[in-house]
Amino acid sequence: MKQLFARHALLPQGWARNVLIAWDGAGTLTEVHANADGAPDVGYVLPGMVNLHSHAFQRALGGLTERAGSTLDNSADSFWTWRDLMYRFAATITPEQVEAIAAQLFVECLRYGYTALCEFHYLQRDPQGEWYGHLAGMAERIAAAAAASGIGLTLLPVLYSHAGFGAQALRPEQRRFHTSVRDVHDIVAALEPLRSSQLEVGAAPHSLRAASVEQMRELVDGLPAGRPLHLHIAEQQAEVDQCLAFCGQRPVDYLLSQLAIDARWCLVHATHLSGAESARLAASGAVAGLCPTTEANLGDGLFPLAPYIAAGGAFGIGSDSHVSHSPVEELRWLEYGQRLARQRRNVAATAATPDVAEFLWQGALRGGAQAAGRPVGALAVGKRADLLVLDDAHVNLDGIDAADVLGRFLFSGNDNLVRDVLAGGQWVVRNGVHINQDSIAHRYKLALHQLREVSR
Ligand code: ZN
Repeated sequence: MKQLFARHALLPQGWARNVLIAWDGAGTLTEVHANADGAPDVGYVLPGMVNLHSHAFQRALGGLTERAGSTLDNSADSFWTWRDLMYRFAATITPEQVEAIAAQLFVECLRYGYTALCEFHYLQRDPQGEWYGHLAGMAERIAAAAAASGIGLTLLPVLYSHAGFGAQALRPEQRRFHTSVRDVHDIVAALEPLRSSQLEVGAAPHSLRAASVEQMRELVDGLPAGRPLHLHIAEQQAEVDQCLAFCGQRPVDYLLSQLAIDARWCLVHATHLSGAESARLAASGAVAGLCPTTEANLGDGLFPLAPYIAAGGAFGIGSDSHVSHSPVEELRWLEYGQRLARQRRNVAATAATPDVAEFLWQGALRGGAQAAGRPVGALAVGKRADLLVLDDAHVNLDGIDAADVLGRFLFSGNDNLVRDVLAGGQWVVRNGVHINQDSIAHRYKLALHQLREVSR
């Protein structure tokens, strides 16, 4: 039995004092007991955050796509021109490099407070479009990287069959992504032996552009019950326009009218929603997977958060293209985007939870856990032992009330206040340093060096 005694811990119902937290050898919480007797080991403890949307290989591109195109016409650079750069990068990358990049990403995510991550995995084939030995080869690289880092993983092999609405043929640069429904079922089956308390396997139709609703039905019908399902939707206005031209409906309306979308589903981005779509999405029980730093970086647009919150919609956060690895930055920009657009303050709050930081952290925990399909996101018996010990010696946290901790954490400065991280019952970060940080960084630098050589 292992345990930690926190002077203050954030429980599902709010902050509690003198909390004894214990977990078993399998990394499951066996006791969470407030108002316990004894001397606390640490000051402030939070549940670890869930990163519900990741394309791990894109970590290596972060910061390298920030120059205006040759025309210097600010209408020329868009999500779509970024996507061409990303495709070029994805064209040569090897399985070893994917594993090295993913491990580096997962270490960074852990150090900043994510203890679980959902990998939306579409880089499946080799550069010629052939399979690596067996279909799950690339997915197993992601699982190996997660195991090396200690982060909990929800692995989502992607259904990617078409280049656009109406079953358009894939472009040559998309051949590494190509899967049929049968392929995804086979990958899910091949990953079955890897499932554990730290790893779940779901599936992800890439988008309405890359998979038809008929395929999505077939995909869901052939999956084991209860597995998480994710897809990209309505990220770009062009996608909305193409969907309207294709079927006369907006993407979320079309999806909800064609498939039984429920709490198993995570709709990633869902940026461009009508008022009616926002209400329908909230009522469906699905999670809106919001990726504010990527959506800002790619010029996607702003998710209509206020009406969605008012309708009781579930949400979580993801780092998607990994221009940030910090849940603080993701949640800060989720709120700041709304403030800028609406010219008011404190948008992500309700009468029941007026504290913006608490509303965001607790809401993203609930939605993230739902999207991950794993028992995470709360300090409660039976959940995974995933927690963060904050640096209570930092000037921002010194001597403050527990009620102010999340506000300081999310909205004050850029120091990383995450000191220690427990993931699946293992201390993977101590005093800000990951246990395998140096060896994983070494392999990452080697992979990047190789990729630079190829692109010269
Ligand atoms: Zn994505």
